[in-house]
Amino acid sequence: MSPAPEIRQHFASDNYAGMCPEALHWLLEANGSGHEPAYGDDRWTQRAADRLRELFQTEADVYFVFNGTAANSLALAAMCQSYHSVICTPVAHIETDECGGPEFFSNGSKLLVAEGVSEAARLGKLTPAAVEALVTRRRDIHYPRPKVVSLTQATELGTVYSVDEVRAIAAVAKSHELKVHMDGARFANAVATLGCAPADITWRAGVDVLCFGGTKNGLPVGEAVVFFDRTLAADFAWRVKQAGQLASKMRFISAPWVGLLEGDVWLRNARHANAMAQRLHEGLKALDGVQVLHPPQANAVFAQMPQPVVEALYAQGWKFYQFIAGGGCRLMCAWDTRPESVDRFVADVKTALGG
Ligand SMILES: *Cc1c(COP(=O)(O)O)cnc(C)c1O
Repeated sequence: MSPAPEIRQHFASDNYAGMCPEALHWLLEANGSGHEPAYGDDRWTQRAADRLRELFQTEADVYFVFNGTAANSLALAAMCQSYHSVICTPVAHIETDECGGPEFFSNGSKLLVAEGVSEAARLGKLTPAAVEALVTRRRDIHYPRPKVVSLTQATELGTVYSVDEVRAIAAVAKSHELKVHMDGARFANAVATLGCAPADITWRAGVDVLCFGGTKNGLPVGEAVVFFDRTLAADFAWRVKQAGQLASKMRFISAPWVGLLEGDVWLRNARHANAMAQRLHEGLKALDGVQVLHPPQANAVFAQMPQPVVEALYAQGWKFYQFIAGGGCRLMCAWDTRPESVDRFVADVKTALGG
């Protein structure tokens, strides 16, 4: 049930896409099922949380919030005291795109950005060495005490941490008594690439809290905060409520999650988005004048194109960003990106380059 061919698609963000049929189906089911208890005491929320526990093969505490900024900010606030700090990359969404939300909701916990010029840093990743360096640089009372390492999976640059990479970073974190947070706005895309069990790249690798993105994977709205370390979830419900993130008709967030989780629709959606990014990559790398900045591992392609070409594409109505993570055009594919949309974009780039 993809949109009619004449409907325009874009590469600006995977949140430009609508909701997938399965999410819509369960939204309508929840709406048609009569009155239900509010604030998450309904059967849909129970069912979605149970499905998440099954998916991760563990007894996690699960909360649903409206968006990723709130999921990250509230999760980090739950993991930190105000005098603590959170280690992340310079391109981390929590650092560059959440308007200070993590610092605000944690009452001042500071983000410590791992500056580095390693190949991993170029690919938007933290390394064990970078974490070690930041933790050991200062230990005195004047410095905000490192408490959390935050990894983005898939990263803001469309790359993916391997299971071994997450394990190694988590091991360094644990050796210094730090907790591990994972911003999984595109967790599904990472799992689709890795082909591993979701448990293997999260709690079995040392991740304590995962913010599992649903919006970019085909939901209308809603992210899940999954606490593998359940002690960190103490009083979290109050934190969510105080932040204005407790949906009173929670079932309209959670029922669509049931649609994503049952039948592994989340994985199918992610595999499709990733495949479209591969198709886009193949098309663009064949063009003289376009430089793909690194091989895509999830659903993003980063490419350098001459500015007149970019302007020509914008003039034709294409939407994509240039400012993300310091360079190149970021082209995101979504769960519903059609091959024809990819091919049309590539053809337009080719024309703009002069044939
Ligand atoms: C989109 C995104 C989020 C969530 O953003 P919201 O707009 O607040 O839902 C978080 N982290 C990353 C890496 C993202 O790309």
